Amino acid sequence: MAEGPRTVVVGAGVGGLVAALRLAHQGHVVTLLESAMQPGGKIHTQSVHGALIDSGPTVFTMRWVFDELLRAVGTRLEDHLRLAPLSVLARHFWYDGSQLDLFADAERSEAAVADWAGGEEAARFRDFCDRARTVHDTLEGPVMRSQRPGMVELTARLGPRGLAVLSSIGPMRTLWQQMQRQFRDPRLQQLFGRYATYCGSSPWQAPATLMLVAQVEMDGVWSVEGGMTALSGMMARLAQEQGASLRMGCTAQRIDVRQGAVCGVELTTGEYLPADLVLFNGEAAALRQGLLGTAVRPAVPAQAPARSLSAMTWAMHAPSSGVALERHNVFFCPEYQQEFDDIFLRQRLPQLPTVYVCAQDRPGEVTEGAPERLLALVNAPACGDVPPWQDEDLDTCQATTFSYLNCLGLRLPFSSPGMRRNSPQDFHRRFPASGGALYGQATHGWTSIFTRPGSRTPVQGLYLAGGSVHPGPGVPMAALSGQLAAEAMLASPVSTRRSRPVATSGGMSTP
Ligand SMILES: Cc1cc2nc3c(=O)[nH]c(=O)nc-3n(C[C@H](O)[C@H](O)[C@H](O)COP(=O)(O)OP(=O)(O)OC[C@H]3O[C@@H](n4cnc5c(N)ncnc54)[C@H](O)[C@@H]3O)c2cc1C
Repeated sequence: MAEGPRTVVVGAGVGGLVAALRLAHQGHVVTLLESAMQPGGKIHTQSVHGALIDSGPTVFTMRWVFDELLRAVGTRLEDHLRLAPLSVLARHFWYDGSQLDLFADAERSEAAVADWAGGEEAARFRDFCDRARTVHDTLEGPVMRSQRPGMVELTARLGPRGLAVLSSIGPMRTLWQQMQRQFRDPRLQQLFGRYATYCGSSPWQAPATLMLVAQVEMDGVWSVEGGMTALSGMMARLAQEQGASLRMGCTAQRIDVRQGAVCGVELTTGEYLPADLVLFNGEAAALRQGLLGTAVRPAVPAQAPARSLSAMTWAMHAPSSGVALERHNVFFCPEYQQEFDDIFLRQRLPQLPTVYVCAQDRPGEVTEGAPERLLALVNAPACGDVPPWQDEDLDTCQATTFSYLNCLGLRLPFSSPGMRRNSPQDFHRRFPASGGALYGQATHGWTSIFTRPGSRTPVQGLYLAGGSVHPGPGVPMAALSGQLAAEAMLASPVSTRRSRPVATSGGMSTP
């Protein structure tokens, strides 16, 4: 039987892992290269006094993406990963002392909004949920599950009904404008406007269609036993079982192209891996900047788009007191627009940020006064390659963040033993060419959907997956991009020319 195409996947982020798994399952001879010593990319933990803190993504949504992936490779998600649905999606705190929980049960959320902001606002909330569901359902097939569409293609895919849905919310409207129409209570405008940040964007520039992100969360949030790295670890293990060879601590420095088609990948060690197909799972910007060689620069549009949000994060193993935390907690700042103006217009750390706190031992027993695993995160500009600030400014941001939490009632030590801080510079070092942007390009303006690169590139045999390409960032979306890339590669001439061989066992190695 013929051997499958030699396929090199550069990057073991979610997109790379998903594609490696799918392709190995289909008989490709897959080698997956990763600069870090662990698979997962942005999914990673930091050790604080022996406690492992999830320090990348923490909100796990759209489990159906992984259900479908595992079914496609002949197994079941529940056989490999323990997921627990959260009954409280998130707890929200405001500067006026008010607090609101959103629940997995929509009726419970509506009742909570009614108690908190009155019956009329609860009716508006119900209307918002209906609208967000409709937008989500309209765009799921034609956009999220499909290769990147052009304008004409999208119009055809949406059909008259889909177009009517989009025009009913005004496709040119921003998410913030939509929230102002939707709610009278500024706190609810802020709560639902914040969903733009799940794509690393400003509510003042993101299109109103991003309200679908709120729907994604209302469809369910799960906690993953063993943390988010259990998810990336599972995919790495399954890819190996399907025959993929995982090489950790290996950096690709050049994607080799001859006569317009990829033919291999060179590592920083000088080793050369011949390849029929290459999938790049790093930042699309790395190709644009020529970090993988000049021959693959044309794989992405030459013009650099606006970067998405970066972040300052603090991983702690510390006691908390003052307010009862849920797993996901948001402490809103009073001047929300000012926060995004600071970041996107003034390119500086927010003077007073909104703070997200993930209490990773909750729900569950947390003994009063005992340390618990916490990650605090504030949005920051993605200028980690040319930071316009000094270390003292990062210290000021830390002091402001923790004193603001204190103001809102959450007492956390300003600096706890072993606390690990990450800045846009740190993220830029780990994700080359990103500037620390955590979600690829910003989803700003209604045309942004057409400007993200798709999985196919103009360079024959070179494909893309990850949060910086279509359909966008976030763990499940990057996973969908991996699926789309795998499908495109399976449909490529080099893949269809060869019959499917039986997969053999692979392995994970470090240099
Ligand atoms: C702090 C933080 C919080 C977040 N919160 C959430 C959340 O709650 N929910 C959510 O869904 N998403 C969240 N996200 C976003 C989510 O983590 C990402 O969108 C997603 O994980 C990106 O996956 P990816 O496929 O783009 O790969 P990435 O995670 O970007 O990984 C790419 C990999 O490629 C490797 N690589 C790059 N170049 C090379 C090379 N030349 N050679 C070898 N290897 C290379 C890198 O080392 C990296 O490991 C968060 C991200 C961060 C950082």
